[in-house]
Amino acid sequence: MKRPNQIPYLVYADEKGQIFDFPGLRMAGRSGNLFHPIQPTDLIPLPEGSELFVLPDRLPVGWDSEKDEMVVLDSIPGQRGKVRAVAAFIAPAHTQLAMAAFQREKKDLPPLPLFAYTAVGWYGNSFWVPAFRSDLDIRQDARHFDLTAIRKNTTSRMKEAPHNRLIQHLGRCSLTYGCPAAKNLFLNRYEAPLPTSPACNARCLGCISLQPPNGPPATQERIRFVPTPEEIAGIAIPHLKQAPRAIVSFGQGCEGEPLLQAETIKSSIQLMRKATSRGTINLNTNASRPRAVELLREAGLNSMRISLNSIREHYYHAYYRPVDYTQKDVIASCKAMKEAGGFVSLNYFIFPGLTDEVQELERLEEVIAETGLDFIQLRNHNIDPDWYLNEIHYSYSGHRLGIKTMIKMLKKRFPHLGFGYFNPYLEKAE
Ligand code: SF4
Repeated sequence: MKRPNQIPYLVYADEKGQIFDFPGLRMAGRSGNLFHPIQPTDLIPLPEGSELFVLPDRLPVGWDSEKDEMVVLDSIPGQRGKVRAVAAFIAPAHTQLAMAAFQREKKDLPPLPLFAYTAVGWYGNSFWVPAFRSDLDIRQDARHFDLTAIRKNTTSRMKEAPHNRLIQHLGRCSLTYGCPAAKNLFLNRYEAPLPTSPACNARCLGCISLQPPNGPPATQERIRFVPTPEEIAGIAIPHLKQAPRAIVSFGQGCEGEPLLQAETIKSSIQLMRKATSRGTINLNTNASRPRAVELLREAGLNSMRISLNSIREHYYHAYYRPVDYTQKDVIASCKAMKEAGGFVSLNYFIFPGLTDEVQELERLEEVIAETGLDFIQLRNHNIDPDWYLNEIHYSYSGHRLGIKTMIKMLKKRFPHLGFGYFNPYLEKAE
């Protein structure tokens, strides 16, 4: 589809949630607390598998291209009723370049649910978003999920293993929550999830499995038991042995911190590697315990993904609210895994206006140079931007580069560094 040669029109919703375009204004974007016009070169058609959200009690902000000013759209001429802002929750494997531009009708609104709110506009009979495909891997492409096969396979696997509590838990994740990783497990392909930990030693603002009453709604039910190494290996070994581009990953959205279950995970990895050397064994983690990371690497862990909202300590601590560790421990874990020959990715929460600030890039370059980490996963930060920036006491440093420019500069400085969206399948998992 040919990219528009002009900025698409703003879209808004009425009280019934019906979405319309408003040709009087162009779509606008948001970076940090700044609203700005969108560059047509940043636009792609709304990817298949994306969703559109109507934002309660929030007004759309558009760009008046003639007056070159931002305008809050609070009513539609000649129409009655409230106007609502619209945002896109873009499909996996796509990274946002600007968030949706909206203004709260009043300050003390409850935070929006934990999704990424990307800008969206309308032009030439299509919705357009400022984003790019950051990973060509099709493991979570909507069109490749055969729901009939998923239901059939999940149900039969659950029947076959009534005493494996983890299969029963993941069966619910597949059928009830539609978790793409759980669905891939039951389709016997790509990356499969291995949640293990009901507990966590952080209190992330945007935790999707555990939230305080006044927080945004948690989108996942947290696992309530610690599976045995045999229950874990019972799922992992057949997957590692026969799935195409097989990866098994500890550290899922439906659990706390897996490093708190290091002994259980170590024993399960030993069982896996006794049975097969095939596939990649990965750990998604807050990397709070360097010694535990060393233990798991010795047992056969191949790769580790460290989640990160910001590499700047004050924003990191304000977001993670760590209980018994600091960001220094996180960097020490990264070094420990690299020094032991493991593969390390960052699960970098992309938040335009913060992630692409010069200060952020400078500190990130220092940490990449210091640790030798291998890969950056460009994930959209699933969080209400107003609530988040307020909670971390964000103050604009005055110079942002744009997400694409930031990536270009990192690639130039670190030619070895890989970029994507998913945990890479390591051909020769060491
Ligand atoms: S580290 Fe993970 S489980 Fe723990 S609070 Fe943060 S998001 Fe939640």
